[in-house]
Amino acid sequence: MNDETRCVISPPVETDGFDSLGVPIYRASTIPFPDAESYDTRHLRGDEGYSYGLSGTPTTRALERKITALEQGVRTFLVPSGQAAISIAILSFIAAGDRILIADTVYPPLRDFAVRDLAKFGVDVVFYDPTAPEEVERLITDRTRIVWAESPGSTTMEMQDIARISEIAHRHGALVGCDNTWATPLNFKPLAHGADIVVEALTKYFSGHSDVLMGSITLRDAGAARTVKDTLSRLGVGVSPDDCSLVLRGMETMAVRLRHAAQVARDLVDWIAGQPTVAEILYPPLPASPGHALWRRDFRGGSGVFSIVFKPEAVPHVHAALDTLKVFAIGASWGGTRSLVAPMRVRQFRTARPWTGDDLVLRISVGMEAASDLMEDLSRFFDCLNGRSAPGPEAQSGA
Ligand SMILES: *Cc1c(COP(=O)(O)O)cnc(C)c1O
Repeated sequence: MNDETRCVISPPVETDGFDSLGVPIYRASTIPFPDAESYDTRHLRGDEGYSYGLSGTPTTRALERKITALEQGVRTFLVPSGQAAISIAILSFIAAGDRILIADTVYPPLRDFAVRDLAKFGVDVVFYDPTAPEEVERLITDRTRIVWAESPGSTTMEMQDIARISEIAHRHGALVGCDNTWATPLNFKPLAHGADIVVEALTKYFSGHSDVLMGSITLRDAGAARTVKDTLSRLGVGVSPDDCSLVLRGMETMAVRLRHAAQVARDLVDWIAGQPTVAEILYPPLPASPGHALWRRDFRGGSGVFSIVFKPEAVPHVHAALDTLKVFAIGASWGGTRSLVAPMRVRQFRTARPWTGDDLVLRISVGMEAASDLMEDLSRFFDCLNGRSAPGPEAQSGA
């Protein structure tokens, strides 16, 4: 063998006696076959067989199966982001002339995808009030292929009755898809409550460290799984095994991270509720929350994400107060180790259930820091906000 060839072909090494607790990273585009016959009959390797890197390596399979087990589904597919999980799950099943019913409070980029792309391809896009299953009954037709849900809803946290919605959808031959990113399958399993498709933004709690993007699509039924698999290979969508390795590592601590975040969130929420500039806290685990009964009935726990609605006089000062924060970072996404705040504008994203609170809602994601440091940081925020929002001397003398 020449040196050039030695550089290319790696010698076999012993793996006897070696093992590791972490899942190894297997990278591949090409998957070599032992003989020509095996290559020729590679399509017989089955739905989870290996034939080309796009559809996964053993690293990918390990992550897929872990998620499938948690969701109590039959098969999971990994895609490059949570948004890709939503759009590809829908694209796999929808056709021109079909209707899709979408909860008004879904992740906003799904609204955009629906009204721009799905509508362009001849899909009838209809938004429904997430808190009113009777609205689904009124809007569903025999051409309705998908009813999309997200519980609790993005930013404003409306809870949905997935079992009731699924019963209505199935009676009309429609599939139910549910974005379960807030709860994770540790706290809610949509497939066990009737949904057919569940998606997770693995970017959030699963990976948990704000350094990777990924999404998962899990199906309840083998036929539906086949449909998604075929769509993915035609679209040419897959994920990197290196990224899967990051999600696999993050997932090992997800349960303790989620428990910590939920506990600290609960403590913060009780304290924030006493602030004079706060109108409402949106967080289903709060007994006063409108979705609390559903949350209690269906969910096993809370998470670290909640939102604050401010009194009108405080709203103009929220940005200035946010700039006093030192521990919380300002940014999109959530579910990482670092606590985040994001001032969200919600009114433009509500058409079926108009948002009557102030347009600006502050979303908070609690990370892994000590509760007392977060409390101290928020004290700075509220000192600034409460001070600026207090009535000036003129208002006082006029009162
Ligand atoms: C963040 C998020 C997504 C999108 O996930 P990306 O990986 O950022 O694309 C989808 N749904 C919900 C509820 C989310 O919070």
